[in-house]
Amino acid sequence: MCARSLVSIYPEKVPFPVYCADCWWSDRWNPLAYGREYDFSKTFFQNYAELQNLVPRLALYVKNVHNAEFNNHSEQIKECYLTVDAISAENVYYSNLIDSCSDVADCMNVQRSQLCYENLQSRDNYNCIQTFLTDNCRDSAFLYDCKDCSDCFMSSNLRHKRYYIFNRPYTKEAYEEWRASFSLSSAAVYEAYYQQFLDLIHTRAIRKAQNITQCENCFGDFIEKSKNVHDSYSIVGSEDCRYCYINWYLKDCYDTTESAYDCELQYESHGCNRGKRTVAAHVSYDVDAVQYVDSCHNSSDLFGCISLRRSRYALLNKVYPEEEYRELRARIIQKMREDGEYGEFFPTALSPYPYNDTVAHAYYPLTREEAVSRGYAWSDSPERHYLPQTLTLPDQLESVSDGILNEILVCSECAKNYKIIEQELKLYRQLHLSLPRRCADCRYKRRLALCNPHRLWARQCSMCRAEIQAPYPPQATDLVYCESCYQQTL
Ligand SMILES: [Zn+2]
Ligand SMILES: [Zn+2]
Ligand SMILES: [Zn+2]
Repeated sequence: MCARSLVSIYPEKVPFPVYCADCWWSDRWNPLAYGREYDFSKTFFQNYAELQNLVPRLALYVKNVHNAEFNNHSEQIKECYLTVDAISAENVYYSNLIDSCSDVADCMNVQRSQLCYENLQSRDNYNCIQTFLTDNCRDSAFLYDCKDCSDCFMSSNLRHKRYYIFNRPYTKEAYEEWRASFSLSSAAVYEAYYQQFLDLIHTRAIRKAQNITQCENCFGDFIEKSKNVHDSYSIVGSEDCRYCYINWYLKDCYDTTESAYDCELQYESHGCNRGKRTVAAHVSYDVDAVQYVDSCHNSSDLFGCISLRRSRYALLNKVYPEEEYRELRARIIQKMREDGEYGEFFPTALSPYPYNDTVAHAYYPLTREEAVSRGYAWSDSPERHYLPQTLTLPDQLESVSDGILNEILVCSECAKNYKIIEQELKLYRQLHLSLPRRCADCRYKRRLALCNPHRLWARQCSMCRAEIQAPYPPQATDLVYCESCYQQTL
């Protein structure tokens, strides 16, 4: 609409127009103008596909963002950069699955934390570097499964501790003296400790078979304060759910992914914050009684709609009187049942995203051939030539001047170019941390590889040999304890 160049989740050659957030959220266009009559000689998905080819789409799924242009799938965010799946975030960089955090970078699946770097599946931390399954900690680094600790370093399974190094207690003076003897602002020092941290996790830390805390009758992994949640992963404050992945505060949901806050009766839905009674709804916030919708907000009673805001009783983006809407909707559902279309999510053929551009590829990687044989789109990115770096990063952060912001860097792992932005430099200086040697993508992949996968394997408890199910494959040599051995040991 405004013709400025933008970054989008859509490839360049999509049939529909793509608007920047300012234009898309404005009243300068009317999505109802694309409304269509329903054609009963065609299937529902054929009807939907025709609408899909016309309606303008939001370049990146964002709502209520302030000075945060390059983020996706986020709302209520301010001054964030390359962050995805965030809600209530400020000064958050290169992170994903973030709820109520500020001044954090390179974090994954983190809630209510400040001034943190590389926290994974952690909550309520302050000034913590490289934590994993660690909550309520402060002024610490390299912690695995620690709760309510401060001033601890390279330790695992600690509870209510202070001044611990390598799981051993020290006096305040000894801890501080040792901690002052080196700095994580040296890249070599940081990387050496990172390798020790991996060793700690995989050889010495006790890994709980399923990380389920303050729950009743739950099964899966990384579930907190929930009741009757089954076969689900990364869930907080939820009740009566099954097959749900990465959600906060759900009730009565099934097959729901990345929905948060006050969600109820969601089925086969993705990214519907504060959504109720949704079926096959995709990234639609504050909605009620919507089915087969994409990017519709603050709306209710919609069926097969795209990009609507503050609308009601609409079908294929056309508004009807309530009675007529209900009759037509019933007829369409009946037809969908006959055609075998109703009750499942949109078919992959309707996805405008190439498989290798989606988060599905990160969790379930496929080769090009595998993806194409399953009918998924694939993006063959044109061969790119990366520039040589204009500066060799010094080992110490202190040797880096503000001039770094104009330099082109080369990732030590994949050789792609990357850069340092002003806000992240400020954060590294605040945390006394070395600058990253890898590009944001490689850092993301490294975090993802460390996080528990969304599946369980049958294996034995490393202590009592009881049969358990855990997110660690049987061949993994990690110390995996059943619930009772874990509780006894800790
Ligand atoms: Zn625009
Ligand atoms: Zn890289
Ligand atoms: Zn056991």
